[in-house]
Amino acid sequence: MTQGAEDVVRWLDALGSDDLAVVGGKGASLGEMTSAGLPVPPGFVVTAGSYRSFIEETGIAEELFEAVDVDSDDSGALAEAESRAEQLILGTEMPEPIREAMLDAYADLDDGDAFVAVRSSATAEDLPDASFAGQQETFLNIQGEKLIQRVKECWASLFTQRAIYYRNEQGFDHEAVDIAVVVQRMVDAEKSGVLFTSHPSTGEPKLIIEAAWGLGEAVVSGSVSPDNYVVDRDTGEVLEHTVADKKLLMEKDSETGETVEREVSEEKRTAPVLEPEEIERLVELGNRAEAHYDSPQDVEWALVDGEVYMLQSRPITTIPDDADESTEPAVDENDGDVLVRGLGASPGIVAGPVRIVRKLDQLDKVGEGDIIVTEMTTPDMVPAMKRASGIVTDEGGMTSHAAIVSRELGVPAVVGAGNATETLSDDQPVTMDGDKGTVMAGEAEPEEETEEHADVRPQNPVKPMTATEVKVNVSIPEAAHRAAQTGADGVGLLRMEHMILSTNKTPERYIADHGEEAYIEEIVEGVRGVADEFYPRPVRVRTLDAPTDEFRQLEGGDDEPHEHNPMLGYRGIRRSLDRPDTFAHELEAFRRLFDMGYDNVEIMFPLVNDAEDVLKARKLLEESGIDLDKRKWGVMVETPAAALTVESMCEAGIDFASFGTNDLTQYTLAVDRNNENVADRFDELHPAVLSLIGEVIQTCREHDVATSICGQAGSKPEMVRFLVNEGISSISANIDAVRDVQHEVKRVEQKLLLDSVR
Ligand code: PEP
Ligand code: MG
Repeated sequence: MTQGAEDVVRWLDALGSDDLAVVGGKGASLGEMTSAGLPVPPGFVVTAGSYRSFIEETGIAEELFEAVDVDSDDSGALAEAESRAEQLILGTEMPEPIREAMLDAYADLDDGDAFVAVRSSATAEDLPDASFAGQQETFLNIQGEKLIQRVKECWASLFTQRAIYYRNEQGFDHEAVDIAVVVQRMVDAEKSGVLFTSHPSTGEPKLIIEAAWGLGEAVVSGSVSPDNYVVDRDTGEVLEHTVADKKLLMEKDSETGETVEREVSEEKRTAPVLEPEEIERLVELGNRAEAHYDSPQDVEWALVDGEVYMLQSRPITTIPDDADESTEPAVDENDGDVLVRGLGASPGIVAGPVRIVRKLDQLDKVGEGDIIVTEMTTPDMVPAMKRASGIVTDEGGMTSHAAIVSRELGVPAVVGAGNATETLSDDQPVTMDGDKGTVMAGEAEPEEETEEHADVRPQNPVKPMTATEVKVNVSIPEAAHRAAQTGADGVGLLRMEHMILSTNKTPERYIADHGEEAYIEEIVEGVRGVADEFYPRPVRVRTLDAPTDEFRQLEGGDDEPHEHNPMLGYRGIRRSLDRPDTFAHELEAFRRLFDMGYDNVEIMFPLVNDAEDVLKARKLLEESGIDLDKRKWGVMVETPAAALTVESMCEAGIDFASFGTNDLTQYTLAVDRNNENVADRFDELHPAVLSLIGEVIQTCREHDVATSICGQAGSKPEMVRFLVNEGISSISANIDAVRDVQHEVKRVEQKLLLDSVR
């Protein structure tokens, strides 16, 4: 059976949503938009039937399906199947009629030498395929006859190991799966981004535009932080506008035609991307898209030579039913009144009198509702931090002690404010904004004054069901109840050090003063409170990890070694392995908890570098009488060394690996996470960090080891998008971010599923 040209390719402007079986989900949706007159770049689809004819007419079908009929638990056989399928498809000549029809259609696009994007567009039967793991092929900037090869590569992407595995697991027949390929003129975007036609979390009629230089891949992949515009959809007025530092862009290399990443020139980095009239065009596009689909849309757009193009549109699924009650008190920020500026580390706006805290013995002076202003918070300040209505520190970044604990307590905080302890004075009335990172003179209106910080956060979260688990981080056991109310799937990180540090003594001093038994019980009780609150949901408890400078502030701190750089020093598993006697008490606490029936407790080791660390820790675990066949244990991936050697750690028997991106970022970029002078360089989304994370996820998946994140970056939507696309098993977020992360995860998962049927 030979096909006519119209069977091989179909033009986008002649397609609609009914054509899904012929052109796949992506082809059908682009066709629908084109037919509706939306500005979609022109193109055609190589139909699913063409793939079918290719494998049948060339006679490779039988061998192909035989090759991929393997036991999916046998990773060697899976790899073999992928490579045999690829050889068959790529090594078989394209039948002339199909080839000719494709090249004729290509010639009809512009004047025959257009650069095109070539994208797989799977049909509905292919639901659980490779694209679920974000792997379906897309090629950009393809020109001329290379098109043929790229189409074949899209076809071959039906048979990646992961795709074969998923279909086997889901009971899908490889022979029933089809794939179409969209060929569309490339838009050499000068600017691009995404826009939400309604606010994605509140549903308000506000258009949110994210914009960056160059091709949109940089924004969608999260490798650049885009500018952000909030526009009133009815009046077109720009309500808010944040210009980001856009370090990178992606563009077509004029010589090779390849997509390359480039640094943005100095003057464009911090310049706003969009002109007022471009914003108007985008508002118009957003309105047309929402009107056409009759529901809020998430649109990918591009601008070139003043023309706006729409690359993709999909429904926004994150708007909760109870949206749009705005909870934060509004404060007009008058720049003249800003006394101090720092990083907004824990959200919320509060007012109160300043309480400067310089030494430990002054903590009593902090009263209910005061705003603590201090160089840096310490663990023993936690009781005072609970009484305070806000916290301002001179030092520290977004992952400093002050930032982590304030978020957990739900107390607004501004960190790294430089000289707040000098600029502000005791009793001075101020209003601070933990989002914007500002402290302003005077106290806001009386009703705002009495606003409880706990009330500015969403209550009774609507919990979406997600395949990727969303957990919560807990540092102070007192926060367990609040944490459990988020509906999180468990605790991804319970930091043990706060149970010890809150006694205001180093472990060694505590044991000297109160005895080993009391020390063990202190840990048992701390963990137990959280494990009870979450039972039977898992609680991952991390063994002690405090740097010596934190211990130094406590009783017994004088005995701590003097370290030139505590962040690179005697902490985490290094200290534990060096002091096996003290470590044995922590392990004994775990053993008792298991004995008491807390089978939801898991053990995590911090700051391991390699399998040697892991094997030593494992040996001590076994010696403590914990049965590793029954318990889950794992490591944090916090150093490049750990990321690069994770395979050997998998072989050492870990059940999970969890990214501590606070440390992983600091050690990868050589940026001290607590040093506000370099806070602008602390970038958890840096390509180097993402690359380490991506590789670890992949390796762990191959070894059936679960992956998670418990660093601060797990609360960032860009990171969440990246991780879900990479196939992470769970994400652990801050208490106040859990709900947003749940929705973001759901959105990404739905997009993956939708993409796989499109
Ligand atoms: C991390 O490094 O990301 C982490 C979660 O550990 P900590 O912040 O306690 O160092
Ligand atoms: Mg860490």
